[in-house]
Amino acid sequence: MDTSNIEKKDRIEGCILGGAIGDALGYQCEFTSGIKEREYTTFEDDYGIFSDDTQMMLFTINGLLWGNTRGVIRGIAPTPDVSILLAYRDWYYTQQGLPPVENGVSWIDKVPAMRHRRAPGFTCLNALEGFDGNNVPTIKEPINQSKGCGCTMRVAPVGIFKNDLTEAIELGAKSAALTHGHPLGIISTAFMAGLIYEIIHDTAHQFNGQLHIAFEYTNQFATKNFHRQYQQDFTNIMRKAFQLSRNNAHDLANIKELGKGWVAEEAVAIAVYCCMRHQDDFADAVIASVNHDGDSDSTGILAGNIVGARLGIKAIPSYYIDHIEQKDLLLELADDLDSGVPFGTLDVPDDSDPWITKYLHRKPAKEYN
Ligand SMILES: [Mg+2]
Repeated sequence: MDTSNIEKKDRIEGCILGGAIGDALGYQCEFTSGIKEREYTTFEDDYGIFSDDTQMMLFTINGLLWGNTRGVIRGIAPTPDVSILLAYRDWYYTQQGLPPVENGVSWIDKVPAMRHRRAPGFTCLNALEGFDGNNVPTIKEPINQSKGCGCTMRVAPVGIFKNDLTEAIELGAKSAALTHGHPLGIISTAFMAGLIYEIIHDTAHQFNGQLHIAFEYTNQFATKNFHRQYQQDFTNIMRKAFQLSRNNAHDLANIKELGKGWVAEEAVAIAVYCCMRHQDDFADAVIASVNHDGDSDSTGILAGNIVGARLGIKAIPSYYIDHIEQKDLLLELADDLDSGVPFGTLDVPDDSDPWITKYLHRKPAKEYN
């Protein structure tokens, strides 16, 4: 299918809402043990509740836009990875039931749905518990040896935010290292950021080409930063995903070959497999990505991000759009990410402006339940 004419705004909304929908489809069966006894294709009670994956994805957006806004208004701001980390600290406080961080950066931490505990990952919680505001974990000084997929499921906004593929991959990697230190977690997250960048910004290529380019650049990054073995491991599982997507076996059998998705490289491989196999159908790709015996919400958000960005929001069946919780909040953050800071240093609007309300005064511009 030729997707080159889909507008950027539609792609970004498709990426963010698509991710939330995949997450919600997977969250309801994430902990169903054994192969699911039925196929999950709709939301329980027709109401899609997303998990910590979507919460953290939205905090990624909030952190990036806070940093940029502060840069425009004050002329100085933390680097984007630190802005993301500060937003994740805000998320950590919501998960502990604490009041908003005094010198925090987020407005979405006032939204009730962002404060609910939705099976948050322990690696993320532990990493953020140890953050004192100064000690920023890096690729070179890893915080732990985890490669759980919690570093990857929240990264799509980085690929939208950046205007350069290499920068998207590097920021994706740095954002992973904030909570996860294992090279394969970092490489897989870098690839996901690069792939989303390619799909959003490089519409001259078909999906195969976008995958190939993101993969090549990620390999260059991996070779520069880690022992060759990790680049090889990532290459092997991605090659397997590409090959499996071309056979005639059932999705469930193919996904089983790739693993369960609890670790980052398996989650990315499963999502990429589903999006290659069902390239032109949002529902088919996302349904395949959650119906397996593993980490369904994370494979669901990754597949939803990818196929949603490719096909745009208009290709997402209305059932999912109409029944996902917090549709307006998801759209608001997607559109904010699309527009970026909508003013310059010399024309900063007054305090009543919704952007200033949110990204300077940390208050929602309207009421959310
Ligand atoms: Mg989750």
